[in-house]
Amino acid sequence: MLLRNAQVYAPEPLGLQHLLLGGGRILWMGAQLADLPAALSVETIDLQGRRLIPGLIDSHVHVTGGGGEAGFRTRVPPQGISRFTRAGITTVVGLLGTDDVARGPRDLLATVYALREEGLSALAFTGGYHVPPQTLTGSVRGDLVFIEALIGIGELAISDHRSSQPTLDELMRLASDAHVAGLMTGKAGVLHLHLGDGLRGLDLVRQALEKSELPPRVFHPTHVNRRKGLFDEALALTASGCTIDLTAFPVEDGEDAWSASDALLRYLDSGAHAERITVSSDAGGCLPTFDANGHVCKMGVGESGALLQTLNEVIARGVPLERALPAFTSNPARLLRLDSKGYIGVGADADLVALDSAGAAHDVIARGVVHVRDGRIKHHGMFEDTAT
Ligand code: ZN
Repeated sequence: MLLRNAQVYAPEPLGLQHLLLGGGRILWMGAQLADLPAALSVETIDLQGRRLIPGLIDSHVHVTGGGGEAGFRTRVPPQGISRFTRAGITTVVGLLGTDDVARGPRDLLATVYALREEGLSALAFTGGYHVPPQTLTGSVRGDLVFIEALIGIGELAISDHRSSQPTLDELMRLASDAHVAGLMTGKAGVLHLHLGDGLRGLDLVRQALEKSELPPRVFHPTHVNRRKGLFDEALALTASGCTIDLTAFPVEDGEDAWSASDALLRYLDSGAHAERITVSSDAGGCLPTFDANGHVCKMGVGESGALLQTLNEVIARGVPLERALPAFTSNPARLLRLDSKGYIGVGADADLVALDSAGAAHDVIARGVVHVRDGRIKHHGMFEDTAT
């Protein structure tokens, strides 16, 4: 397949380029188009100067559906592939949250493999909110070493009334399991931490860094924009080498939280290491609001479209695309050790998104296959309603 006239952001701007795709990869890229033999019968798509970015990497997705925090009827259904592709997402990391008992690693892995069969790049974390973590092989280290799709542990909950109230020792033990399994396999080996509203914030992580030899990259705290004080703590933590994750959840006026776009702007303006920030959607997860007694008083669901929306909000506020883009592409790829993802270049996976002038996904290619063309979905999941 030949993509013509793409304004490439790799994430760095490379100007107008043509790209030749084959076997799920980018085979060639150049500003001057050479003649291709007719016998190859190459399919051509003219992008007419649209911005072409790497497919977004969403490192926190409840692919099985999350929820279940206010009765069984609040369990969110699984997410079909077009929910991701139409939002420009070509790689997801699936995980379990509060409900790691009615849901488990078998269901999670089966859902990840189904998404792969349908053309998405999909991985997962082992465990869930609680300690001891749910595993497939009997240990988190065994899961990461022997099951190819499992690349880290998460989302382990801290500073939250729904957590197992893990101790420092428990947290350090799990982080070491993630780290050692990462060394053995070349996988990410991260401990992806769900942060709740609790005022202890990132205290356990700071203590673990102080009292152990664990490298800071192992700890990947998420939802750090849910409370303004927590965001300040997280920002400070990046100086030690941790990468922090913002969640693109809706934030209402007057709430003690930063929207992901507010937080990303603050991060970029702070002078902190530009590569130590990622943004994820929490798609499929329920977004409950609790009262002081821990009762759910409101329920929402995380949406994949929140990533592209956040990217566009940041750009609308004057940040160049190439400066905003790494948090959604090259930064998660680096942290998750996905070497062929997160950038546009020869040899990279052909995960590509062409944006229209409004910043929506006009064309989406996942592993070399067109999933969205002219804003229309070309591939639905097996049980998705094809009428939409
Ligand atoms: Zn969470």
